[in-house]
This record gives sequence, C-alpha cells and structure tokens, in this order.
Amino acid sequence: MADNKVRRGVVLAPTDLDTVNWLDYFDDNLNLLGIHSGGGESHNVIDRLGVYGTEEFRKICRERNIDFEYELHAPQQLMDYSLFAEHPEYFYENSRLNERMDNGNWCVSSPALELVAKNAVMLADKLPCSTNRFFYWGVDKGGEDWCHCDKCSKLNAADQCLATANAMVQELRKSNPDAVVGSIFYLATMQLPSSVEPVDGVIAEYAPYRRCYKHTLDDPDCAVNREYYRRFKEIISMFGADRTHVLEYHIDSSYASVRTGCHRRCPCRDLDTMKRDIAVYARHGITSFTSFAVDINKEYLDLYGDTDIKNYLEAIKEIQ
Ligand SMILES: [Zn+2]
Ligand SMILES: [Zn+2]
Repeated sequence: MADNKVRRGVVLAPTDLDTVNWLDYFDDNLNLLGIHSGGGESHNVIDRLGVYGTEEFRKICRERNIDFEYELHAPQQLMDYSLFAEHPEYFYENSRLNERMDNGNWCVSSPALELVAKNAVMLADKLPCSTNRFFYWGVDKGGEDWCHCDKCSKLNAADQCLATANAMVQELRKSNPDAVVGSIFYLATMQLPSSVEPVDGVIAEYAPYRRCYKHTLDDPDCAVNREYYRRFKEIISMFGADRTHVLEYHIDSSYASVRTGCHRRCPCRDLDTMKRDIAVYARHGITSFTSFAVDINKEYLDLYGDTDIKNYLEAIKEIQ
C-alpha cells in the first residue's frame, strides 16, 4: 500500500453516521472510515452523501485523527450517460443482445475511457480523502455490464474494470503523484484479469460478496468459501498482498437483510469465527482491511445492542 500504514476500517452509509456516534469507536485500532453513498449500481453520489461529502465533515475526521476515504458506486459521476444518443460507441455492448446499451459501463476500447478518467479526477476534487486512495466502482449487477464489442470481446469483466482503474490512476497522478485506485473484485469482476496488468498505483479491492460467514474463508469443507478463497489467493498472487485491500461484510446488516425487507443481524455474529476468519487474511499478509457495517444504525442497536461492533473491534486486532 502507498504508505505501508496498517489499516483497520469500517465502511458506513449516511444513515448509520446520522444515528449512531460511530466516530467514538475510532482509535489506534479502528483507524479508517470508509464513507459509502449506499448500494445500488447507479445514483448521484454527491446527493446521497449529503453532509458526509462536505469539508465540514472531513474537518471533523481530521480533528479526531481518523483517516477517511470514499467507497462509491459512481457510474453516474464517471460517465455522462446523456452522451449515449450521440456516441453509442462510448458505451458497453451487451453480450446477450449484442447491442450498445446505456444501462451498464463504458467501452474500454473507446474514447470513453479518457472521459471516465477525467471525471474521476473531478470527483476526487469534490471528495478529497486522507489516504490518497480512490474507490470508484462501475456497474456490477453480476454480468453483462461490461463491453463485448469486437475490440473488447476478449477482455473479461475484471480486465475491463482494471483497464478503467489504470486509466483513472494515470489521470489522477498528473495532479496527485501519490494517488492509488482500487480495482474491485466483486460479482462479475470476481475473476482474474486475463490480459490487462495493473499499472503503478492500482491495487486490488477484494470484496467477496455472497461468501459464507458460518465458515472461515479457508475452510475446505465450505463449498462456497472454497471458491472465494481460491480467488483471493489468485488475486494476491497477481497483485501482491501489499497491493490488496480487503473489503468485507462481517458486520454488514444490509448484507444479511438484502431481499428480506427487514433489519437482520449482521452475517458474522460469533467472535471466535470472525477472529479466525480475519486471521486468514492476516496470515496471507493483508494489512489493509475493512468491513461494511451498513445499517448498523440506531434501529440496529435498539434491536441487538453493540455486541457485533465490539466483536469486530476485537477481531480486527488480527490485522497487524
Ligand atoms: Zn468495447
Ligand atoms: Zn459455509
């Protein structure tokens, strides 16, 4: 990682920060706040962030010595979708319909990549962070979101995501030589890039959405995690553990509540399992680790108390 600082973080959305004194949990142990504008593949991140996208809030973080960065689903900020009418070739070709469409990402073989990189700089100017790390994600609904035109068809989703991160960091580094950009490994991008290589300043962001939390990541008897562990090892062998940031879901209530419509307890409720699980990452050399804790808000604490937060604060001590 750029400055070799050990990072143990939590990623929160505005409603969590609005209703719980989350900043009081930060200290030398929990030392990184990821500010998330919420789920969904496409929205105006500045509107959603509200006060948490302002200098007023960033000043509070600085005063309390809390590192902060933004973790955003940002296709609307990275690409001007109104360009579709004039320049459909800037947009992805859907692999099932073989048609250019305006509901996914951009064509990485077109001039769109340059526009995306320039827009990333504009977004970074609006949302400065204390870590020099930028996590701006495209659309990932699980497939068919990246381009399958004649030029891009040999590139898988992870290649195209990485090509975008490469373009963004090169543009960002023109004004900020220390800028680092994460290329996310998430749903469709949870595979090894086949031909694109990360340029200087690009790190992997490993976000194993849909993994299992009953078992540790390396449990050979968990058929779900076997796949995620294999991917994790492939990713760190390509990027290096020092260039891999882990974005987990151990205490993400929204992860457990998705499609249920109710406020469910976070997926990893057992301290021992959580510690052993995070120790797997530590054993592989991970020193930058964070978990979503979305929907751990007042309503959550009223229902379940803050045991899950305290368990997490204990378990992240594994990351050294
Ligand atoms: Zn293309
Ligand atoms: Zn399992």
